[in-house]
Formats: sequence, structure tokens, C-alpha cells
Amino acid sequence: MTDPYDGGPIAALRRIAFLLERGREDTFKVKAYRRAAAAILPLGEAELRRTAQEGRLTDLSGVGTSTAEVIDQALGGELPARLAKAERDHGGPLTAGGAELRAQLRGDLHSHSDWSDGGSPLEEMAMTAMELGHDYLVLTDHSPRLTVAHGLSAARLGRQLEVIDAVNRHLGGGTDTGEGFTLLRGIEVDILEDGSLDQSAEMLDRLDLRVASVHSKLRMDGAAMTRRMITAVRDPHTNVLGHCTGRLVTGQRGTRPPSDFDARAVFTACAEEGVAVEINSRPERRDPPTRLLELARDLGCLFSIDSDAHAPGQLDFQVYGCERAEAAGIPAERIVNTWPRDRLLAWARN
Ligand SMILES: [Zn+2]
Ligand SMILES: [Zn+2]
Repeated sequence: MTDPYDGGPIAALRRIAFLLERGREDTFKVKAYRRAAAAILPLGEAELRRTAQEGRLTDLSGVGTSTAEVIDQALGGELPARLAKAERDHGGPLTAGGAELRAQLRGDLHSHSDWSDGGSPLEEMAMTAMELGHDYLVLTDHSPRLTVAHGLSAARLGRQLEVIDAVNRHLGGGTDTGEGFTLLRGIEVDILEDGSLDQSAEMLDRLDLRVASVHSKLRMDGAAMTRRMITAVRDPHTNVLGHCTGRLVTGQRGTRPPSDFDARAVFTACAEEGVAVEINSRPERRDPPTRLLELARDLGCLFSIDSDAHAPGQLDFQVYGCERAEAAGIPAERIVNTWPRDRLLAWARN
């Protein structure tokens, strides 16, 4: 006896993908579900049912045996077995703490789409953020020098801004209406070796919010790294200092020690400039380390709790950062993504 299900096949496939990503499963396995959802989307229900009845689902490019089974079961009004398993394996709470703070977050300031090194279209990231109850998601694909991550040239970023505008029109949101969900225009801009930002001032000015992060020469001398980071923090375009130590504590990419820099000097500059210190929620980053998180707290810094999601299901990682912020006793008022969108945008414009 199976449970009834009335969500339809596309919702079932998207939910399975979301849960697998949230559970940090191999993205290769997840792709199949997202591809199948995209494959049946243009068909419409009548044609999809006909295709299923004739047993031709696997003829569709992007639909395999296991995804066809999900579609068949969902069309038949029963909970797909694969979805039931994904809910069992990955549907539970990710953390013991952090829920109270997570409920106060209105958005996420750091996310990637397939325009750079993310795995999904920006529309899918936006839709999932909306389903998670966010008022806004800042899309922050990488900047040009980060070629391994397909960083966006000024021209590509310009095209992306047009797509973001179109998505917002479609969703009925947008920065002028003040209502509903908005996909905000952002960037994760590389902090170059001299502390300058890897995008033109003209393009940076066109964005709603800018996360600045170090991705190269992480092992440089401590004094030089301190100067580099402070120069970036003092740049008037910078709103958020992303994953400040660059450390990796676990995961497929192996581990990496934190960069060497004078954290007191860097966080003092952040506090003076009103730049938020990011609490990066990715399980393999947990950045900044607790000792630095507490130092930034004591120096009066603002914070942002970001998912740094590279796939829709990873947007749910924020609770990891919330758990750490709660444990460190950081007041919600100092976490900029608890603020309403207009307040956030006004802060980011300065
Ligand atoms: Zn980064
Ligand atoms: Zn990132």
C-alpha cells in the first residue's frame, strides 16, 4: 500500500533533487532528476500521460528508467518510492540548533548558478529560494579572473542582469515594487593580490550587493594578506567579506588550513566600513572558525549568514551557519540578512 501523492511528476522530480543536494549526495546522481524534470516540462499533462501510457517515457531525451518510474508513480497519484526514500534519508533537520535564527532570515546573500560554477539555472535557484520562504536571494556568480569557475566577464555579467530582470518581471517582484520575492543582482568578486576587486567599478555600481572573497594565493605572507584584505574591505563597493580564512575542514576537495592574516585588523576595518563578515554555511568551510567569529562579534562587526549554494538544495545549508551564530551569541539585529529588503539595499548602496 503506497501513500497518495498529488504534487505531480515535475514537483516530485524537483523535490528528490532538492533533498539529495541538501543531503550532500553526489551531484552526478542529482542531475538525472533535474534533467528529467526539464525534459517533461514542455510536454503538458495530456501529452505526458499519453507518453506514459504508451510506455514511451524513456524515449524522451533526459528520462531514464528510474526517473520514468517516478513520473509513472506520480501520474498515478501515488507517492513515488524514490521520493519516499529521499524524504526518509534527507528530509529531517540538518542541525540540532539554529532553527530560531533561521526563521528570522529573510534572504541569502551568496549563491551561484550555472552561469559560473553552480549546477542549476538561475531561475531554478530563484524558485527554490522562494519555496524556502525567502524574500530575496542575491545571485553572486564569480568574477572574470576565476577562470576555473567560469567567472563572468563584464559582457556576460551585463547579459545576466537582463535575465535577472526578466525573471523578476515573470515572478512579479523586482526591486521597485517592494512586494514578493526578488532575485537581487550580485557578484562574488575576487580580491586580487593587491586587494583590488576583479570587476570594473562601472559594473560593480550596477549591482545591488557585492561579496568580495579571496580565492587565489591563499598562502601568501600574513602581513601582505592583511594589507590585501583591508584594501578590499575599504573599497566602497564591498558589502560582504566572503569566507574570510579560505579554510576547508572536510569534503571532496580535501582540507586546507586558514590563511594567515591579522584578523583583529581586518575585522576592525570591517566594523569601521560597515562591511558584513560572512558566516559561510557550507559544511566543508565553516568559515570563520569559532575563535574568529567571536573576535568579530566582540569588535562590533555586522554579519551575513550565507549558504554559498552551488545547487538549489544547498540553499538549505544556512541553518548550519545559524547554529554557529547562535552558539556564538551573535544578536540577530547585527545579521544583515534578517533585515527587510529595502533596509538591506539601502545599506548595500552606501
Ligand atoms: Zn568563494
Ligand atoms: Zn561562492
